[in-house]
Amino acid sequence: MFVDKKIKEDRLNVCKNCDFYRNFLMLKRPKWTKGARCGKCSCFIDAKASLTKEFYGECPEGKWKE
Ligand code: SF4
Repeated sequence: MFVDKKIKEDRLNVCKNCDFYRNFLMLKRPKWTKGARCGKCSCFIDAKASLTKEFYGECPEGKWKE
């Protein structure tokens, strides 16, 4: 159900450099990362990045390596 810490960190780093990275109000380029969301699927990134693919832990743009 959950991915290991390294995979999650790698995923979050990809998100932080992605054009779809938003804050919890869906505003672009947030200065803080808490509650960050994906502008493509509206998911809360921290939660989604913790999950395996079988549990919907997938980037809608296919940008995550794992
Ligand atoms: S999940 Fe994918 S599309 Fe969404 S912010 Fe992260 S890298 Fe970008």
